[in-house]
Amino acid sequence: MLEEQVKQLGELLMFSGRTMALTGAGISLDSGIPTFRGVQGLWEKYDIMEYATIEAFRRDPVKVWGMLLEMDQAMMGAKPNPGHTALAELERMGLLHMIVTQNVDNLHQEAGSREVVEFHGNVRQFRCLECRQIHERAKVDLVNLPPRCHCGGLVKPDAIFFGEAIPWAASVKAFEMAQQCRVILVVGTSAVVAPASEIPVMAKQAGATVVEINPEETVLTGRVSDTLLKGSAATILPVVVEYIKSRRQ
Ligand code: NAD
Ligand code: ZN
Repeated sequence: MLEEQVKQLGELLMFSGRTMALTGAGISLDSGIPTFRGVQGLWEKYDIMEYATIEAFRRDPVKVWGMLLEMDQAMMGAKPNPGHTALAELERMGLLHMIVTQNVDNLHQEAGSREVVEFHGNVRQFRCLECRQIHERAKVDLVNLPPRCHCGGLVKPDAIFFGEAIPWAASVKAFEMAQQCRVILVVGTSAVVAPASEIPVMAKQAGATVVEINPEETVLTGRVSDTLLKGSAATILPVVVEYIKSRRQ
């Protein structure tokens, strides 16, 4: 069954002409970064309203930094896995034209993907909440919390909390592509965080084929997505790439 689906996806990608991927925390799980939802998800441990909103951060930055440091540690040691590498390879083959990622871990870029739109920012750099200045991570004091900018503002990783706006340029690029693409791969996302969750819906309405890769069904399955390849991205995506290579020989 999965073998047949892999073939179909390979053919679809070879003849699509315009393909995007929307990725989420699930693709980085095999790199050792916990997802937010699901078994052992971070939200089992940290309540969203208490830790992940911009109001919570402003109210009690030291407490929220407790969670941020834990995430930071998981992310700084992480390396791309075969799922990230396979997407980078698809791009090099000319078969994947944009990745829109909800992840903030920089692993797509480290795997070699070039056209990466970061919908929720990136934790490799830090930013002042008030004057918006970028702060180099290495120069931020993570011992005396919370770190502050010379303007007095709070400094935080340059990824957005709930309640903050999506980076404007990223949002424009992502939604434009959603309307133009012929195929969208939805990889490792539960698709419940708006507005990212609207991307596959918009692509579908514009006529694209929606293919999910996820070990679990999601809110999109059977409703918005045309197929679900059930399993880990790190296992399935390399097999799809191998199939395409064998067809191109
Ligand atoms: P989510 O935690 O809501 O959902 C994760 C999804 O991944 C689930 O549907 C799960 O079934 C699936 N999954 C689990 N293992 C998988 C695997 N091996 N291969 C493929 N799929 C797998 O994640 P989300 O939808 O991205 O939303 C969470 C938000 O949290 C995002 O906005 C993201 O910014 C942020 N986040 C980012 C990271 C990161 O950068 N790595 C990590 C945690 C959370
Ligand atoms: Zn500042």
